[in-house]
Amino acid sequence: MGCGTSKVLPEPTRDVQLDLVKKVEPYTGRDDIYKCFIKDHCKIKAGSPSPPQHANSYPGNHLPANLSQPEPCKNKVAKYCAKFDTRVTAKYDIKALIGRGSFSHVVRVEHRATKQPYAIKMIETKYREGREVCESELSVLRRVRHTNIIQLIEVFETQDCVYMVMELATGGELFDRIIAKGSFTERDATRVLQMVLDGVKYLHMLGITHRDLKPENLLYYHPGTDSKIMITDFGLASAWKKGDDCLMKTTCGTPEYIAPEILVRKPYTNSVDMWALGVISYILLSGTMPFEDDNRTRLYRQILKGKYSYSGEPWPSVSNLAKDFIDRLLAVDPSDRMTALQALKHPWVVSMAASSSMKNLHRSISQNLLKRASSCCQSTKSAQSNRSTKSNKSRRVLEWELRELNLRYQQQYAG
Ligand code: ADP
Repeated sequence: MGCGTSKVLPEPTRDVQLDLVKKVEPYTGRDDIYKCFIKDHCKIKAGSPSPPQHANSYPGNHLPANLSQPEPCKNKVAKYCAKFDTRVTAKYDIKALIGRGSFSHVVRVEHRATKQPYAIKMIETKYREGREVCESELSVLRRVRHTNIIQLIEVFETQDCVYMVMELATGGELFDRIIAKGSFTERDATRVLQMVLDGVKYLHMLGITHRDLKPENLLYYHPGTDSKIMITDFGLASAWKKGDDCLMKTTCGTPEYIAPEILVRKPYTNSVDMWALGVISYILLSGTMPFEDDNRTRLYRQILKGKYSYSGEPWPSVSNLAKDFIDRLLAVDPSDRMTALQALKHPWVVSMAASSSMKNLHRSISQNLLKRASSCCQSTKSAQSNRSTKSNKSRRVLEWELRELNLRYQQQYAG
């Protein structure tokens, strides 16, 4: 069933920007990024930022010789090398496994000739769902070129696999960075949001809706404090086709970030991304989720009602303008929701960009984020993998849940 029976598949690209992905571009990031991998290259997730005091410990373009990979990691890498098509390994040297997605493995590689580092996402396309996710991602990545969106460099295709060579993001996920940072102010939040909004505005201008915006899909380019943030993972993205009415129908996303109109299965627009940005903004300023419940039906009810509050720490210290910004994104009626352009012009974003020092919200935010992270660790692995509705199985769960929810609402209404 994939992402619902009426999955909106992105149109094959006709864009001139397709040419952009044909050549391998030189890496322009900072060299000190490698230390991330020294620490984290055995982890499943991309590395968290290292403490800033070590920022330039390892100058030069290579891992220090004395910090070569431990034996188990070498074995893991060797295993992945064997799985890779020889055309890919002839050009790129596989260094480490850095991530694992629903249908993919992401590895850090080095271009053999230029020694530049890249990420390669290998997606298995044997099964329909993998193929669909891959088509979505490719059709979008081939069209985009923006500083806040991960850049596709080149693509290798075999019968059962697609290898996407991409820019390498080594600065870790948004919230790992916030926890690692000693301070976090509203100004810092607006800086992050400005970058994400710039990327989203660009996507929406091209008729692309991401449909799975969440903190895990926002990666820092490098561990330095001046790093830009990049939008990744376009596996659920939808690209508008000429002649379309811009409306999407597919039920997909990640439960906590799904907009109400998707839940009631109304045709929807790119404003679902703006809802998700409202959820991200709320988390960014508090470290807590606006809508959260272990029980999905209750979670969806909260979302449908747009029921969230500003109680608890650090909300009393957060400005009313910031809350107004969130309220204008978490508007249940999509026509009342800000567009990316309007959000960029919101007084909170504009005024914070100009202000200098602000109240430090770091303590409460990081405490809340850590509390949340530890409760996530306690839950089972399978529960975690069900958080994203990207896999076929969990999409089916979502479809089923929504059907149940709608039925119950209809019954209540009829009663
Ligand atoms: P999927 O779409 O299959 O879920 P993702 O795109 O989410 O896969 O990637 C899986 C993991 O790999 C994630 O943890 C992500 O942080 C990491 N990752 C993906 N692309 C890159 C990249 N270009 N640079 C660094 N890490 C990446």
